[in-house]
Amino acid sequence: MICLGCGKIIEFFEPKIEELQDRVCARAGFRAVTHSHHIRGFCRDCRKSTAVDPEIESARPPRDGARLLIETES
Ligand SMILES: [Zn+2]
Repeated sequence: MICLGCGKIIEFFEPKIEELQDRVCARAGFRAVTHSHHIRGFCRDCRKSTAVDPEIESARPPRDGARLLIETES
């Protein structure tokens, strides 16, 4: 997770995301070599320090709030 306010990077591991990306790749017959996920937004501290929550409703992805980017390098 990359904070757009302070630039903080919060690393995370979520087995469900790993499983999901494996499934997506398998379905496409794609063999992943590398991948990186970036979720951009505002961290807890930055959200607290602003009077108005910087979260923009229209910028949110439609479903579960997590935008998944799968980037591959050759
Ligand atoms: Zn921040």
